[in-house]
Amino acid sequence: MDSMIPSAGAPRDALGRSLHDLRISVTDRCNFRCVYCMPKEVFGRDFAFLPRAEVLSFEEITRVASIFVGLGVRKLRLTGGEPLLRRNVERLVGMLAGIGEVDLTLTTNGALLARKAQALRDAGLTRITVSLDALDDATFRAMNDVDFPVARVLEGIDAAEAAGLAPIKINAVVKRGLNEHAIVPLARHFRERGHIVRFIEFMDVGHTNGWRMDNVVPAAEIVAMIGREFPLEPVAANYLGEVASRWRYRDNGNEIGVIASVTQPFCRACTRARLSTDGKLYTCLFASAGFDLRALVRGGQSDEAIGAAIAAVWGRRSDRYSELRSAGTQRAQKIEMSYIGG
Ligand code: SAM
Ligand code: SF4
Ligand code: SF4
Repeated sequence: MDSMIPSAGAPRDALGRSLHDLRISVTDRCNFRCVYCMPKEVFGRDFAFLPRAEVLSFEEITRVASIFVGLGVRKLRLTGGEPLLRRNVERLVGMLAGIGEVDLTLTTNGALLARKAQALRDAGLTRITVSLDALDDATFRAMNDVDFPVARVLEGIDAAEAAGLAPIKINAVVKRGLNEHAIVPLARHFRERGHIVRFIEFMDVGHTNGWRMDNVVPAAEIVAMIGREFPLEPVAANYLGEVASRWRYRDNGNEIGVIASVTQPFCRACTRARLSTDGKLYTCLFASAGFDLRALVRGGQSDEAIGAAIAAVWGRRSDRYSELRSAGTQRAQKIEMSYIGG
């Protein structure tokens, strides 16, 4: 399903990009405190997460998602925060699967996956992405910063495989000085199992993760490190707007991906919109403000009016933060990854 081509009638933004993917954040809460995403010092006991009344209900999310599908969206991804923390998230999966015509997936830290995988599959989820930044316990526990063991995430991945969720993708954020040494072991472990590891350059999302350029391990370096042990060859993109550049092991044909959002920005092909937990529409991961769709949904507006509002927001879109970052321009106000979803 990754080979979807943006539909002809989809609205185009100011740079000619169509609207093809919607990432839906179902909660701003998380059971991890990954140092690159929700550092403990900021997301501590006193942190004010969204009150329940502000969070979109499953019915509201499904209604908004169907309107997006009507506008040409063909890929929905549930994210967060940690999506499996949202109670009965499988019910939402079932409702979204019922929309039809969409590739539906979910990104999780895997902590609750062992007990949820089958229910998610039964509800209509077909594939899944699990984040895992290292296979050695000391590094992984330090990165999730809640002392969570690798073994439980691996159990979750096994349960996902047993439930028939395929392909399984593994997201690994790489931060210089923290887990470069984990790159080759991750590649080695998952290449045998046929799961696709996607190595992600540490990004300057939000304001709290202390990002610095010298913490970024460039994708080219990651590919070279793996290629020295397991020779790789490039693979053509599945579809326009695919964020990961793909590489194949010459010996067994399995793949890895690298997401070079810092060193090789891909804004030009970015067809992604994001719906925050409280119903705001963001047209860029690095946007400073969102458009309040919840106000329209709760204000009694028709699907047509909401669709027209979304199309208008998309039509005005000119975001290309990562390209501007490369050019040395950065915006002052950004939102946090855990709120908008990755
Ligand atoms: N909690 C779920 C998880 O971790 O998979 C879903 C939400 S998380 C925000 C989505 C993805 O964003 C994860 O794969 C995570 O590793 C990635 N991510 C978070 N902060 C990042 C950063 N600063 N740079 C690059 N990727 C990041
Ligand atoms: Fe939670 Fe995912 Fe962020 Fe880690 S990356 S803190 S698991 S939302
Ligand atoms: Fe898309 Fe914004 Fe990321 Fe560029 S910086 S790829 S426009 S989300």
